[in-house]
Amino acid sequence: MNLWYTENHSKDARFSIKVERQWVSVQSEFQKIDVLESREFGRFLTLDGLMMLTEKDEFIYHDMIVHVAMAVLPRVQKVLVIGGGDGGTVRELVRYPNIEHIDLVEIDAMVVDVCREYLQQTACELDNPKVHLHIADGLRFVRGKEAEYDLIIVDSTDPFGPGEGLFTREFYGNCYKALKDDGSLVNQHESPYYRKYADSMRRAHRRIVDCFPICRVYQAHIPTYPSGHWLFGFASKQYDPLVHFDEAAQQRWNALNLHTRYYNTELHQGCFALPTYVKELLLEQEPDGRKGGCAQ
Ligand code: SAM
Repeated sequence: MNLWYTENHSKDARFSIKVERQWVSVQSEFQKIDVLESREFGRFLTLDGLMMLTEKDEFIYHDMIVHVAMAVLPRVQKVLVIGGGDGGTVRELVRYPNIEHIDLVEIDAMVVDVCREYLQQTACELDNPKVHLHIADGLRFVRGKEAEYDLIIVDSTDPFGPGEGLFTREFYGNCYKALKDDGSLVNQHESPYYRKYADSMRRAHRRIVDCFPICRVYQAHIPTYPSGHWLFGFASKQYDPLVHFDEAAQQRWNALNLHTRYYNTELHQGCFALPTYVKELLLEQEPDGRKGGCAQ
């Protein structure tokens, strides 16, 4: 038997992984959830046929969505994670002794159940006492919250289907209000490469720049995501992830002695150095005089 998982990365380009077995395939109220097994990437989770994570390369995504911000921000106690029902983001967050409370808001209970059963690698800290799981729409959850969180991480699906609302101006504006005076937001910022993803990235960037005074974008290489080139956004009311990543911040993070397989303090500085075409795409979305995205 020769079974392959194939995802269209553009109308004319596809990405395939040879599949050894299918662990589960269910349709929830929101999306089709599959966990498959492969020799190259181990188990992997797809939602509506789109790659969410693989056992082999999820460490890159989860390191980068958590540790960049955590190395900059000096006092993070309360965190809101929106999406992320696989558990990988909270698994990284619970490693920080200063974090006391994490609200994890996932719209689809079935994603959490499936990951608990088949993807323990990411789901292993979902029952950590610091983690408070809410099965709810992140868009609604954040409405009406005021000055509650030090950090919000948007670990969402792409802006199609249930994730669509998490890329709107209303959502980013409500995140701004939900953050304390020195709060910050990290989001998965899509890919700059294929047209469909680049358009989503540009729209999201414009909306974030409109809401936050400091916005920067950084990158990582994630082999199983479209084009392998993925961006993350860091927006803050006060902190610049380069300016405030001084000697003291670096020492503070290194003193924690967290072993990370992708993130390190040298990579931190390098990941904000973006290719020219990406800088140009972002700058087009930054109104004159605004210090956002890649503007140095
Ligand atoms: N790392 C992944 C990626 O970028 O491909 C994202 C992983 S995570 C599994 C994304 C999660 O966001 C999904 O489980 C999905 O159900 C959840 N999600 C989508 N829309 C949401 C919403 N409006 N509120 C809360 N969670 C949402």
